[in-house]
Amino acid sequence: MAFGTSFLAPGRFTLVAGPCSIDSEQTFLKTAANLKEKGVNGLRGALFKMRTHSNSFQGLGFEGLAILEKAKTLYSLPIFTEVTDPRQIERLDNYVDVYQVGARNMFNYELLKELGKTKKPILLKRSFSALIDEWIAAADYIQKEGNKNVIFCERGIRTFENKLRNTLDLATVAYIKQNTSFKVMVDPSHGTGSRALIKPMALAAAAAGADGLLIEVHDEVDKAQSDELQAINSMEFGEIVVALKKILPAFGKSL
Ligand code: PEP
Ligand code: MN
Repeated sequence: MAFGTSFLAPGRFTLVAGPCSIDSEQTFLKTAANLKEKGVNGLRGALFKMRTHSNSFQGLGFEGLAILEKAKTLYSLPIFTEVTDPRQIERLDNYVDVYQVGARNMFNYELLKELGKTKKPILLKRSFSALIDEWIAAADYIQKEGNKNVIFCERGIRTFENKLRNTLDLATVAYIKQNTSFKVMVDPSHGTGSRALIKPMALAAAAAGADGLLIEVHDEVDKAQSDELQAINSMEFGEIVVALKKILPAFGKSL
């Protein structure tokens, strides 16, 4: 699918949202419909999950591809989904608009090299232990294979602070914008681990110069199979959109 001209275009702020993992067709399509109404630019949802515990939900896998296809047909939105293994690329390629590389795989150079041979944009999440230079070096692995379209995503790093899931490093967002030509998105969901903190950090990300946000939204959160504590609903997402519309012009951007 071709992206709309507004997707990550200069002066525009891009909103990508959806559940952490796609857990059922019904809830994914319902959430997608509500997000479309709120003006989202892309839909997120993982089929392959890298969970800390092997007995946690691992994602629907390829069985969920039909759900992605349905959402794309119904809502004409670019699909962001995580690829966790180079062997998945061939089958995912017809369904995915942007490949997400998760924090756990930012250092998986064989995966990065294979993604560098694809023609799709790569959303490269920062590992929770990655230095700025290591993050940029990871992007080089993708670009060296020919794919220059790497989008960075700051999603929080591990620090001594343990009250929150991660420490969202917005100074690094400003640094990347000032010192590289990469687009940078911010994920305030993983960056905080707490739904109450998503709106303030979303607005702070816009002020720091981010090009867009990746937010976990689930409209039947009691049924969510992963990251339910950091998922907001589409109404709350709509409130963020309203607030962004007010503040973005101050930074020379619009939705
Ligand atoms: C996600 O976006 O759902 C995810 C797993 O994020 P991260 O790789 O940043 O932990
Ligand atoms: Mn998640």
